[in-house]
Formats: sequence, C-alpha cells, structure tokens
Amino acid sequence: MKSLLLILVTVTFLTGCQESPTGRNRLALVPDAVLADMGQDSFEQIKQQSTVITRPDVNRLVQCITEALVSAADTQYPEAPMPQSWEVAVFENATPNAFALPGGKIGVHSGLLQLAENQAQLATVIGHEIAHVLADHGNERLTQELGLQAGMLLVGLFTESEIAEGQIQQALGIGAQLGITLPFSRAHEKEADLMGLEIMARAGFEPGQSVRLWQNMARASGAQPLEFLSTHPNHDSRIASLQNQLAVARPVFETVPPANCQI
Ligand SMILES: [Zn+2]
Repeated sequence: MKSLLLILVTVTFLTGCQESPTGRNRLALVPDAVLADMGQDSFEQIKQQSTVITRPDVNRLVQCITEALVSAADTQYPEAPMPQSWEVAVFENATPNAFALPGGKIGVHSGLLQLAENQAQLATVIGHEIAHVLADHGNERLTQELGLQAGMLLVGLFTESEIAEGQIQQALGIGAQLGITLPFSRAHEKEADLMGLEIMARAGFEPGQSVRLWQNMARASGAQPLEFLSTHPNHDSRIASLQNQLAVARPVFETVPPANCQI
C-alpha cells in the first residue's frame, strides 16, 4: 500500500510539475478541457445572474482591445496553451473590477470603464486577465485546493481515456464554482501583472499607462478597500514592480504600430 502511494505521488509530480510562462515551478493537474468546461459553465451562470451591457460602442471598444491583446499574447508567449476562443462581456457593476475564467472567458465591470482614462489603461486590466488564463492560474489554484489526495485521484482519472467533469466533481464532492471563484495568490497576481505589461506593450498600448491605472485604482479605493484590491497585491508594491519592468516593456512598445481602439 505504501509503495502504491509512493508511485502515485511520483506520478502526480511527474505529470503535473511544469513551468509557468515566466519560469515559475508549479503544479497544475486538472486536464485543461475539464477546466475550460468549468469556466464556460461559470461564465454562463454569471451572465444569467448579472446585467450584461449591450451598448454596441462599449462592446466594440472592449472587443477591439481584447483582440489586439490576444493576438499579441500569442506572439509573446507562443508556448502557452491558447484557449480555442476568447469571449469578453461587460457587466453592469460599479466596482472597477475584471475577472478571468479558464477557457478564455473575461468579464469587465462597467465601473472599470469609468475609471480607465484611455484604451491603454483598459488594456492594462484586460491584459492582466488574459495573462491569468494563459498562465493557467485557475488550474494551479484548483489543484492546490483539491490537495494531494485529490491530486492522486485525478492522476487516476487522467489515465482513463474518458475524463468527464462530472466524474471528477462527483469523486471529489465539489461544486462547479470551487477553485474558479477563489482569489488568485500574490505570486499569480505578480506574474499576471508582468505578463500583462509585456502583452499590452506588444499590442501597441503605452505600457506606462499601467502605472496610471493602478494609481487611479488606489485613489478610487480610498479608505474602503475595493474588492479587486483586496484580492490583489498592495498597490504600492504592484506599481513599483511595474515601474521596474517598464525598462523592458517600453522598447517593445516602440517597435510595434500603436493600437487603435478609440471608438
Ligand atoms: Zn489578477
């Protein structure tokens, strides 16, 4: 029994231990197709429970920025697994926030459109969310949440030819929301910030605007921490690390044509 356990643990690490796009070691065991299904389900649920903004000008702007960023992300991170398609929706919500779900689903709150002063500031947050998806942070988070024992169970399911989301959920006794809606860790946030900065620069959005965006966000939070900020790093440290990285992002920005999503 003990040796079986040892084999399972070894298999778990061999199959699941990879590097993130920035070279961080991580464990991501949930099959991507399963995760994409879970992201899709959660996104549909959120759309049903919230008000989706249908103004064509708003949707065109957000769509244009997202497309420019996705295409740049593909160039910048060719090794990262790209979702089959991306979907972005704007939700009626005054909190300046955005979120990403596995499988390429991105939600933008209307409050963020109020807070962002220009297309590059909006691209800062959407780029950050695209980075969470590309770096498979949802998978890592869910893997951690399930724990080693569940991880071993997943490896068992992994080797079966048919892996169904329902099977895994049933086996683990979890709901579709688990792991998908949990906040990202600080390490994930930092990685998404730095990847997002490179992606926006590559897409032709002025990377210095990322610093302005987080300054605006910090101002808007006032004494009451906003939901977005409470699950995200302290804004001083985030701004400082972005400022450091500008030396890398600016030269990239200068070699590409400027983005044009002003509508
Ligand atoms: Zn984030």
